[in-house]
Amino acid sequence: MKNKLKRMTFITLTLATCIGGGSIFARTPTMPNDVRFSRGVSNCCYYIDWTASSYQNQIVSASNNWVDTGYGWNPIYMTAVSSNYATHMDFYGRNTGSDSYLNDTTLGYTSFWNTDGTLTSPKGQTPTYNYFYTEIVFNTGLANSYDYRTAKHEMGHAFGLMHNESSYSIMCPGLLDIKVNTVQQCDHDSINYLYNR
Ligand SMILES: [Zn+2]
Repeated sequence: MKNKLKRMTFITLTLATCIGGGSIFARTPTMPNDVRFSRGVSNCCYYIDWTASSYQNQIVSASNNWVDTGYGWNPIYMTAVSSNYATHMDFYGRNTGSDSYLNDTTLGYTSFWNTDGTLTSPKGQTPTYNYFYTEIVFNTGLANSYDYRTAKHEMGHAFGLMHNESSYSIMCPGLLDIKVNTVQQCDHDSINYLYNR
């Protein structure tokens, strides 16, 4: 059981940060060329599909945490809406049977989309230009007490953050390596770096 947990990761994005091999970043890494939401994050609307309704508390908690990290001001403001029209983030719950991209060690993943409903890059690959909206999929087959972290972690990807090998970042990729439950200063600072300029 322990080994299985050890292999679980929040997301399967093949991100170059892992090459850092344990180095600790003062600021959580952002994606190459600092790609991000093309519309910024000051009016982030999010939609929870019925398939993700069991994650509502985790999603609302994550949203509140990113808006108010406890580390000072950032430009994020988030509003829950009842349709996925023109939203920034859409949440879905799927399992390995309904989503071929999920596997039995993936708690969730984030994908990046254009205005016309096409992917900016194949699932699992880092986008190379700014994106209009994101989809966050929870693996319902692995629903567990870590889902509060997962929601915050995947939202971080949606905002444009990559993995941080530090255990003291919500963007730490390993489920058993991560030692925090909330957005940290290093994560907060990257939001201001990306959007507050
Ligand atoms: Zn991740």
